[in-house]
Amino acid sequence: MTDAVRRWAGGPAANDDLPAFVYDLGALREHAAGIRAALAGGPEILYAAKANPDARILAAVAPYVDGIEVASGGELAHVRSALPQTRLAFGGPGKTDAELALAVREAERVHVESPYELTRLADLRTDVDVLLRVNLAGDRRGVALAMSGPFGMDPDAIEECREILARAPWVRLRGVHAHLASGLDADAMLRQSAEILQWARPWLDKAGCTDAPEVNLGGGMAVDYSDPSRRFDWATYGSEVASMAQPGETLRIEPGRAVSVYAGWYVTRVLDVKKAHGQWYAVLQGGTHHIRTPATKNHDQPFTVLPQGGNGPSVGEAPVTLVGQLCTPKDVFARDIRVSHLAVGDVVAFAMAGAYAWNISHHDFLMHPKPGFHYLDGPS
Ligand SMILES: *Cc1c(COP(=O)(O)O)cnc(C)c1O
Repeated sequence: MTDAVRRWAGGPAANDDLPAFVYDLGALREHAAGIRAALAGGPEILYAAKANPDARILAAVAPYVDGIEVASGGELAHVRSALPQTRLAFGGPGKTDAELALAVREAERVHVESPYELTRLADLRTDVDVLLRVNLAGDRRGVALAMSGPFGMDPDAIEECREILARAPWVRLRGVHAHLASGLDADAMLRQSAEILQWARPWLDKAGCTDAPEVNLGGGMAVDYSDPSRRFDWATYGSEVASMAQPGETLRIEPGRAVSVYAGWYVTRVLDVKKAHGQWYAVLQGGTHHIRTPATKNHDQPFTVLPQGGNGPSVGEAPVTLVGQLCTPKDVFARDIRVSHLAVGDVVAFAMAGAYAWNISHHDFLMHPKPGFHYLDGPS
C-alpha cells in the first residue's frame, strides 16, 4: 500500500465514507511515466479505456500515452469530453450504425472487426483510416484469457477485405490490429508480437499498404494478483520490441490493466467475524457488487488489514474467508487467507482495484449504497 493510501485509510476521512475506492494519482503518474520511459523510442502507447475510464484516471494517464483506445460509442463520447484533444482509436465487436458514424467523425483510427463491418463503413462514403483486426490461431496456452472466437477476422476472412477496400478508396488501409490474449509476461508478449508482425508484414504488402504501415500489437500485459510487486517487465519488452520495428513502420500497443490496476484500492471495514462449520469468515461492508474482480477472475484479491477494531469478535492466526454483504456464496473477496488478527471494526484495503473493478461490477444488486471515490493527488 502506498503511504498516501495508508494515511487516508487510517485517518478520519475514512471513518464516515467506507466502503470507498481510493485512487493514488501520484503513484499512477509515476507508474505511467515509468512505462513511457521504458518504451522511449519504442511503440506508441494507447491506454485501453475499458480497464478504467474514470475521468481522473484518464487525465493522470494522458500525458504519458499517445492516445486512448475506446470500444464503444459510450466510451468514445466520455473520453472525448474528458480529454478533448486526445487521439482516439475505436475498436470492439458489434459496432452499430451510430457508432460507425461517430467513429468516422471522431476517431483517428477505426479497428475493423469483420468484412461486413468494413462494407458498412465503406457505405458511409467518408474518409476514414482503418486497421483490420486479425485473429491468429497461434498457441495461447498459459494465458489468462485468449481472445479467440468472434474477435477480428481469421486470415481467410480478412482476404475478403481487399476487394471491399479496392472499391472504396475513401477507406484508407493503414495497417493491422491484433489483440490476441491477456495475461502475457514480457517474453510471451514478445513472442506474440513477433508472430503478429510475421503475419502482418507480407499481408500488408500484398494489400498495397506499404507507405508507413502500422501494426497495433494489442494489450494484455500480465499483472500478478498474487504478488502486486511483481510487475510486467516494460524495460525488456520496450527495448526488444523497438528492435523488431522496421524503418518507416509504426508499432503500437494498447494496454489497460497493467497501466491502471496498481493505482486503486477498495477500502472497507469488517462488520462481523464468525465461525461456521470450522471455517472462519469476516463479513465486510460492500462486496463484489462494487469490486467484481475476484469473482470474475476467481482469485484472492490481495489486501492489507489496518487494525482499528474494538471489543467485537475477532480471529487470530487462522485462515479466514473475507466476504461481502451480498446474499450469495459467490460474494467472496479472498478465501482461506491466514491473518495474524482480524476484528470487527478493522479497516481492510484491497489492492489492485484500479482496473476492471468498479466499472465491471453489478452495482444495483441488493440496493446497497454506492462506495465513495477519493483521489489522492499529493506525493505518494
Ligand atoms: C481489453 C482490450 C485491451 C486491453 O487489455 P488489457 O488486458 O487491459 O491490457 C486492448 N485491446 C483490446 C482490443 C481489448 O479488447
